[in-house]
Amino acid sequence: MNEALPFLPFLPFALPDIGEDEIAEVVDTLRSGWVTTGPKAKRFEQDFSAFLEARPSAKGQPALPALQAIAVNSATAGLHLALEALGIGPGDEVITTTHTFTATAEVVRYLGADVVLVDIDPQTLTIDPARVEAAITPRTRALIPVHFGGLAADMGALLAIAERHGLKVVEDAAHALPTTYRGALVGTLASDATVFSFYANKTITTGEGGMVVTRHAEVARRIKLMRLHGMNRDAFDRFTATVPSWYYEVVAPGFKYNLTDIAAAIGIHQLKRAQAFCEQRARIAAHYAKGLTGLPLLLPPPAPAGELHAWHLYVVRLTDDAPIGRDAFIERLFALGIGASVHYIPLHLHPYWRDRYALRPEQFAHSQRAYERTVSLPIYPRMSEADVERVAAAVRTALAADGALIAAGAP
Ligand SMILES: *Cc1c(COP(=O)(O)O)cnc(C)c1O
Repeated sequence: MNEALPFLPFLPFALPDIGEDEIAEVVDTLRSGWVTTGPKAKRFEQDFSAFLEARPSAKGQPALPALQAIAVNSATAGLHLALEALGIGPGDEVITTTHTFTATAEVVRYLGADVVLVDIDPQTLTIDPARVEAAITPRTRALIPVHFGGLAADMGALLAIAERHGLKVVEDAAHALPTTYRGALVGTLASDATVFSFYANKTITTGEGGMVVTRHAEVARRIKLMRLHGMNRDAFDRFTATVPSWYYEVVAPGFKYNLTDIAAAIGIHQLKRAQAFCEQRARIAAHYAKGLTGLPLLLPPPAPAGELHAWHLYVVRLTDDAPIGRDAFIERLFALGIGASVHYIPLHLHPYWRDRYALRPEQFAHSQRAYERTVSLPIYPRMSEADVERVAAAVRTALAADGALIAAGAP
């Protein structure tokens, strides 16, 4: 199979799957005369909370207040709003994982609070609860777990720590639609707020967008207020009211974080496909698990039996037996026409975080080691069986002793 590889177009690392229903809904929105936050954003919010509540939550949980979903223009905005609503501010510390995207942590700095980064569990690559507990100080106010790659963080342990120490919990669920923990969907757990992302490469997309969900009426009210300039009436409310409606009051210096109806139109139909997308991603993950055996690779752990893994990412790690390093591996994959990426360059290595908190790699041994060996392979619903086979074959070739020659000769 090495010689005379047929010409194949480059297989990108990620691709959105936008269907005709999404396109028709966007067109309908454009023709409707209402393009910013309005009826479609409202419908998307209602559909989103219904999606999360449709699945029976974890057994033994007492009846909980209804979930409120608040659409925003990014998960970053949602994380910022959730922490703001929970009262995080100067002098506070918020603990999160170093093995994440910078958005998880930067929002803490927006509020003048400090970020305390901790290491991960080396198997799951999610935040290590023991390290969280060890990092708590009298200034600690909140935790931000990340469901890395779509696998739930150890929420049982994290929520117990939060309860013991009186801390708020905001889940960064940018990878986790849909993910379950002990049978309950992420978004319905006992944290204070959960934030989803609809960025272009996430499990569902609106181009840019996000959703905050919470069961706390007061937190929801504050987030709705702050997502639109701190105005106590939004534009759709005013322009559709049947009484003279020019009047509103600004009660706080809010932000401009509302989701447009154009984006929500896409989200309404993406959400309907979320379950099917997840099944397709799970099939690809299962296919990889079979196709990548016997190689010097550590494959990502599956979800515990009966749980949903959103499979936003498929992260493999080179073992000590691998003939090449991570960078060469990615270069060979690229030469073989396969896009790949790295999740993540840990925050402790980025100049801002490193210098601001005087961080050293030795403080984050598991994250550091994972980073040095980690490669994310393509995983998205539009990949065909043949695409998955092709990636697996390229991985085998790239890891063969003569992989460089083969890669160099590939079209
Ligand atoms: C994508 C991502 C975000 C930010 O999402 P946006 O919608 O682009 O703001 C935050 N955290 C993690 C872990 C992400 O992967």
